[in-house]
Amino acid sequence: MSNPEIISAEPLAAEAEEAKKIYAAYELSDETLSLATEVEDRLQAVFRRHDRLAELNQFKVLDAFRKEYLAETDFAGSTGYGYGDSGRDKLERIYARVMGAEAALVRQQISSGTHAIATALFGILRPGDELLSITGTPYDTLHDVIGIEGPNGLGSLADFGITYRELPLVSGEIDFKTIAGPEGLKPNTKMVILQRSRGYANRPSLTIDAIQRAAELIHKQKPDCIVFVDNCYGEFVELREPTQVGVDLIAGSLIKNPGGGLAPTGGYVVGRQDLVDLAAARLTAPGVGSEIGASLNLNRTLIQGFYLAPRTVSDCLKGLDFAAAYFESVGLKTNPGSGELRRDLIQMMHFESAEQLTTFCQAVQAASPVDSFVTPVPGPMPGYDVDVIMAAGAFVQGSSIELSADGPLREPYMAFMQGGLVYANIKLAVLLAAEKLRSLEA
Ligand SMILES: *Cc1c(COP(=O)(O)O)cnc(C)c1O
Repeated sequence: MSNPEIISAEPLAAEAEEAKKIYAAYELSDETLSLATEVEDRLQAVFRRHDRLAELNQFKVLDAFRKEYLAETDFAGSTGYGYGDSGRDKLERIYARVMGAEAALVRQQISSGTHAIATALFGILRPGDELLSITGTPYDTLHDVIGIEGPNGLGSLADFGITYRELPLVSGEIDFKTIAGPEGLKPNTKMVILQRSRGYANRPSLTIDAIQRAAELIHKQKPDCIVFVDNCYGEFVELREPTQVGVDLIAGSLIKNPGGGLAPTGGYVVGRQDLVDLAAARLTAPGVGSEIGASLNLNRTLIQGFYLAPRTVSDCLKGLDFAAAYFESVGLKTNPGSGELRRDLIQMMHFESAEQLTTFCQAVQAASPVDSFVTPVPGPMPGYDVDVIMAAGAFVQGSSIELSADGPLREPYMAFMQGGLVYANIKLAVLLAAEKLRSLEA
């Protein structure tokens, strides 16, 4: 018998030959590739950290699956009213368990993150109540929901006599001092809202520790005040979710982190049972609440997506760390910097010209699994006074757990790179971009 082949760090000659051919299909130069290897070597400790995050979150998810006795029969869907849909109900209990909460509403009938958040706000707030944001101005799509500038005739909270106030972040941090003072919680402040991820704002994303401190302070000042977190884009980025550290209710989108890239649509509201019930009454109708809502054929996909989500998020974190480290090593400014703790799945890169920014976005498009043959060009966008370039080639329209890149064509020529289901795909986008940027310089 011949000796068994032992794996070594160096690829076998035949593998190296094959690798050359595969890279050649993308016209990647030796310079680009050897820098990639150096960058990956430097990132080993960071990658180990993300692997461990994935492992622990995976154990949490599997523990919830077994405690709920997830079975093949749960994948059968329901039609019509959707009464007694065991898969849908188990998925909700699984979400609640993993997020350390009493209850969950996880539905394809929730059309987006904004819809999930609006369902919670309208379900709970009543005329005369005040909603207070303590992380500055909320995500853009919530402005019309809240009626930030007063009644807008669109059926906003303001139209129903629910008032709104906001406290800005101070140097990127929650203003604990003001919250504790006379300008903090008022007698009619029924709910405080926090946004975990930075969204489109130039601010740091919140850590779970900061969210915990805020929830404790608010409950100490006013025990009946509801602490709500817009959890969009934050799921599985840390080991705990806001509902595990004193937050009453959270909401998010299934075409972001918790859908694991598989969920084709949907949203969730998770937290205290009484509050989830109110959100369910708003989503369907008072009296029927979460009892109705057919899952059709989606139970398996939504459950499998949640199963894949910890690893998807961790692959994405690794890919963004690779992007940050690679572009830093060719002299670009990045935010967060490589090795900095990440609290969401957004990477900013400062390019030096409109041409560089455009080239980068075109490379991301070329590396996408879908529409790789399309060349994005800068164009006008509502809300922007300059042209914007956007790249995305996703399986699910608008999914931000999938790889995308965009940026307005003005100084400081900042690209926002987001998501990515598979590390190797994010890496390919970075390498294609690096190659193209190199040839711009030449
Ligand atoms: C994505 C997102 C939302 C909701 O957006 P939708 O496009 O409606 O899903 C809200 N807040 C934050 C921070 C987000 O990232």
